[in-house]
Amino acid sequence: MKKEAIKAYFMTLTRETRQSLIGELQELDGLSSSTPKCQEYRRNILDNKQGCCSHCGHTKYVKFGKDKGSQRYKCKACQRSFTEYSGTWMAGLHQKDKIDDYLQLMLEEKSLDKIKEMLSINKKTAFDWRHKILSSIEHVDKDGFTGITESDETFFLHSEKGKQKVDGKPRKRGGSSTKRGVNSDHIAVIVTQDRKHQIDLTVATAGRLKKVDIDKAIGGRISNQTILCSDSHVSYKGFAIENQIEHHPLRSDLKQRVKKGVYHIQHVNSTHHRLKKWVDNIFWGVSTKYLQQYLNWFRMKKNLKESKQLVKEFAEISVEDIGAYSRYEQLTDRYNNLLSTQN
Ligand SMILES: [Zn+2]
Repeated sequence: MKKEAIKAYFMTLTRETRQSLIGELQELDGLSSSTPKCQEYRRNILDNKQGCCSHCGHTKYVKFGKDKGSQRYKCKACQRSFTEYSGTWMAGLHQKDKIDDYLQLMLEEKSLDKIKEMLSINKKTAFDWRHKILSSIEHVDKDGFTGITESDETFFLHSEKGKQKVDGKPRKRGGSSTKRGVNSDHIAVIVTQDRKHQIDLTVATAGRLKKVDIDKAIGGRISNQTILCSDSHVSYKGFAIENQIEHHPLRSDLKQRVKKGVYHIQHVNSTHHRLKKWVDNIFWGVSTKYLQQYLNWFRMKKNLKESKQLVKEFAEISVEDIGAYSRYEQLTDRYNNLLSTQN
């Protein structure tokens, strides 16, 4: 085929296909116009020997040539090779030249339609990238809770937003459950925060909270330095007794809001409120399958509130996580597990 014919054929393709083809050809040829910042941050970590093998976690590895514009490394323990992308949310992405702009727009909380239009990517890509990125920040900045620590659950109605309708019964945003009381349509989210800056938001279960749900969410982060404030839910009482921590249950049935001037759960309740407003106003509700991802995002927003370089800091944190890609791949399993906890 002559060059002119290739060009003519190229112009018959859709704009989206042309864009993606250009990206792929550049990568093939090692010509990527500029290395994405996210990739650079990851390379810095690895080149400074602060990373580890994405296969076995070993910290000894050597540079092992280049691969389509990215640096390759070889692990001294398992002998397998990996690149800057391996294991991270960037693994397997096409159009990597767009990831910096994507991250910027995502953190500006632009809609998927807007991002699709601005970056000439399709909406599914914009949707997937968001959840890949949000898989990377689940376990950062999680230290112990010290001092007065408030914990309380809030509920989100089960939602299959975005999923193809199968049973023909879509529920409107902000709709109500058809059953009375707390039931399996209610997805319990536990919010826990101390009065310094530790916070945890965990999708816990479908239906009523049990002691084991609280344990899974925050059990690893409490100590004898933790003074727990919660409602008088029997699961919290059991949790506190089992872990031998000081506990101040508030009796909401008696309209007890504050004890001794300091023991209350008003900070978490205000977090519940802000979280729901954010989810409703910015995303028009989110699918239960991805709810944890948005909680991760909400937590990072709070943690990086004072940041002068939000995108850079967020990017640096996100590329540290080599468990991100597999966590993303497990989303469906986690969702099915959650629904199987229904009670
Ligand atoms: Zn290895």
